Amino acid sequence: MQPVAPETIALGNFEIARVNDALHWWDGGVFFGVVPKTLWSRKIPPDELNRIPVAFNCYLVRADHHNILIETGLGDKRDPRARGFMKVPEVTDSLPEALAKRGIDPDSIDIVINSHLHWDHVSGNTILAGDSVKAAFPRARYFASRGEWEHAHARHPRDAGSYLDENYDPLVSSGQMTLVDGDYEVVPGVWMRRAPGHNRDMMVVTAESGGKTFCFFSDLIPTAAHVQPTWVAAFDLNPIETIDNKLRWLSAAAEGEWQCAFAHETKIAFARIVSDAKTRFAAI
Ligand SMILES: [Zn+2]
Repeated sequence: MQPVAPETIALGNFEIARVNDALHWWDGGVFFGVVPKTLWSRKIPPDELNRIPVAFNCYLVRADHHNILIETGLGDKRDPRARGFMKVPEVTDSLPEALAKRGIDPDSIDIVINSHLHWDHVSGNTILAGDSVKAAFPRARYFASRGEWEHAHARHPRDAGSYLDENYDPLVSSGQMTLVDGDYEVVPGVWMRRAPGHNRDMMVVTAESGGKTFCFFSDLIPTAAHVQPTWVAAFDLNPIETIDNKLRWLSAAAEGEWQCAFAHETKIAFARIVSDAKTRFAAI
């Protein structure tokens, strides 16, 4: 029998869990860019519409004095048409409900970190409240990149559809969201670090305790299949930069024996990175 991959790990004094791993289905060709389908379909078989299953992974870091949520996933604001397109049930648990079902009090979340502001990473930041929206985690301070927020508002035709302002602007206006400039230590040991490629200001999130490191790669490495440095999604605005940053981050992860997590991986909540050459990696 296959061992079940752990969904929670201890990391020094921290405890880290994957939450809200709801699935959606998205075009496999987009996820694998220039990689031929004959290769990627062996890793993740597509459905009849060429879609592959992908998760909205969020991670909860229970640090010394903080409960930190990395990403907030799908949320409750997508209409039935958008949900049908992604093969997501019409109604899914909100993130506070998903946390409560896992025995985690949503009110205990005091920090939310967004790696970037694409809708599939931040739609649970806010929840519907009549005609408007309100913070899903009223006690939390939210953190995102200022450069990314500015890019979201530039509404470039290439990626304007990735941004829904209701997921972050109400929090910026209320002062609940802090926009950070470059690498930033959110609480002792927990960092947002700029790793461009997917877009200009995407942040990787690391947590360090007791000499051990956890790394949420976000869309720098969206699934375990993307650990090959040249396997880059067609979403990425600057694939060359993605490859350069993957080489740098994967080397550090392999050398430091980090616990690693991917934004859209369905099966593996935590992976180690191994390297058999300077430019070849595997997730185990
Ligand atoms: Zn994503």
